Amino acid sequence: MGFLREWRRRRTLKSARLDEALWKGVAAGLSFLRGLSDDDTRRLKELVILFLAEKEMHGARGLVLTDDVRLSIAAQACLPILNLGLDTYEGWVGVIVYPGEFRVQKEEVDENGVVHTFEEELAGEAWPGGPVILSWEDVGMSERGYNVVIHEFAHKIHMDGDGDESYPAARRDMDARKWRKTLEESYQRFCEEVDSGEPTFIDPYASEHPAEFFAVMSEAFFTESAVLARDWPELYAQLALFYKQDPAGKAGG
Ligand SMILES: [Zn+2]
Repeated sequence: MGFLREWRRRRTLKSARLDEALWKGVAAGLSFLRGLSDDDTRRLKELVILFLAEKEMHGARGLVLTDDVRLSIAAQACLPILNLGLDTYEGWVGVIVYPGEFRVQKEEVDENGVVHTFEEELAGEAWPGGPVILSWEDVGMSERGYNVVIHEFAHKIHMDGDGDESYPAARRDMDARKWRKTLEESYQRFCEEVDSGEPTFIDPYASEHPAEFFAVMSEAFFTESAVLARDWPELYAQLALFYKQDPAGKAGG
């Protein structure tokens, strides 16, 4: 199984290449890709080719997916797994892209056991073992520290890997207790900052739930790495071990 997959991927890479002009145009809008070395960029492009070959991207509500929409989403989805490999995204194939925010029906059971149904507008959603759903308008609003694609794919890495509902498990070569302790203490500190009413550099939405904290901090790790490394050095160091990347050049080993 592993061998066949490797063989198929080598064959895909042999026969496919990215349109360089298209790549340059897409990469120009993603400033955080500029810090990558030439070798990292080359490996990212290979991952993107394989991602586009193995995943199925669909436009919803009439959205036509142009090559640059597909390429932009693939590039951002592949950045977090640059050193983890495409198998991190194993077991599902669908990426659904809406033109803007989309409505979903949610159900919640209150403490009396009563089920409440309500509608919510979302910029992105990820399902365990299932698709990633994105609003293209919100993908386009990405800026430093805010990135809906990295956010949703960080959820995928969390929910499809080991771990519990709060946080993903540490990688095998990490100190699992330190990872967990750093996440829990950082989350605690962040919630206190939000509660104090002080403006936070990180999106206050991160205080909603530990899983949201992990996803939002992952956005910052990749798109505003220097600020994260400065303000949250322990968390930055742990995320560098988790993602096996050091975008700010600060992990130091
Ligand atoms: Zn989220």
